[in-house]
Amino acid sequence: MIYNDYKGLQLSALGMGAMRLPVVNGNDADINEDETQRMVDYAMAHGVNYYDTAWGYHAGNSELVMGRALKRHPRKSFYLATKFPGYDLSNMPRVKEIFQKQLEKLQVDYFDFYLIHNVCELNIDAYLREEQYGIYSHLMQMKAEGRIRHLGFSAHGSYEVIERFLERYGEGMEFCQLQVNYLDWDFQEARRKVELIRSHGLPIWVMEPLRGGRLTQLEEQHAERLARLRPHETPTGWAFRFLQSIGATMVLSGMSNMEQLQQNITTFETRQPLNDEEMKTLLAVADEMVRPGMVPCTACRYCTTHCPQELDIPTLLALYNEEKFTGGGFIAPMALMSYPEDKRPDACLGCGSCAAVCPQQIDIPGALADFAKMLQKSPF
Ligand code: SF4
Ligand code: SF4
Repeated sequence: MIYNDYKGLQLSALGMGAMRLPVVNGNDADINEDETQRMVDYAMAHGVNYYDTAWGYHAGNSELVMGRALKRHPRKSFYLATKFPGYDLSNMPRVKEIFQKQLEKLQVDYFDFYLIHNVCELNIDAYLREEQYGIYSHLMQMKAEGRIRHLGFSAHGSYEVIERFLERYGEGMEFCQLQVNYLDWDFQEARRKVELIRSHGLPIWVMEPLRGGRLTQLEEQHAERLARLRPHETPTGWAFRFLQSIGATMVLSGMSNMEQLQQNITTFETRQPLNDEEMKTLLAVADEMVRPGMVPCTACRYCTTHCPQELDIPTLLALYNEEKFTGGGFIAPMALMSYPEDKRPDACLGCGSCAAVCPQQIDIPGALADFAKMLQKSPF
């Protein structure tokens, strides 16, 4: 296992994420505890010293199961992370109660790492209403009392949301957990977000390194192109090598079985960042993976002043691209929940004024109508 220095701690470069643990009969709430314990023991024995869970994972059971699995190991042999569940606004007034329950569920008296979970469009205003909820001040108090060793945040929101959060709380933050992978490097502006976070002096923790498994298998033509450069690297290996190249301090992978865990640990036995040619080729492959079927909006904003509904068309199209590519994930619906109803895709009148001025000749009303239809079917 390779390790990265973080304030004098030696953190394993691979952390075990506990959001996709093995389950029984496909029931997300019913974790296969024996298998999880075997995985934790194997990870420990092979040098993984960072374990990441959260209040909401596996319907609240991830913290319980991880607490029992880790309890069987000396407290000082691992670093434990969990998160305040602000993705659900009803939790905002409950920071004290939730924090205390998390200590009990995980059977510890301190967290090595604690995160404000999923800062995004939906909750940024609430997170910033410190005088109402006091989340930040309570967590800083817990830090002063030694219940939290390092405080950070995770974010699924836009660049602007992260910027607002950092402007307010950047001084108290010590790391940021972000969705970073080679596919999202340009597609979801991960590169720009990483630069922003680093400009505040914070190291990067990576989540979704394989984009929910999407990067574990590549189309033949892409796999062949990469194999010409590194014949023995697996698709998963390429994804992790990319993250080693951009200097991520921690890479968290939500592993669901022993085989995945073993493969990932093998990859992290060596540090083999990509050279310039490999990086260029990988990003070109990412571009080819994303581009077909995507709306080629350049965010020039020529269209926006022509919209009688005053829709933020480029942002809606970026979310449409995300929803299409992911095949119905939570990011777009979550972002749209923070929009007033008359600013969502189904508010489009289909008048076509926008499309008439679009230099990319995008069928904007068609795209928004399709987006509205997709959202109706979304479980989120
Ligand atoms: S005019 Fe076209 S390319 Fe420009 S922001 Fe609008 S949709 Fe995007
Ligand atoms: S077609 Fe829809 S998005 Fe375009 S100008 Fe008309 S209302 Fe606005």
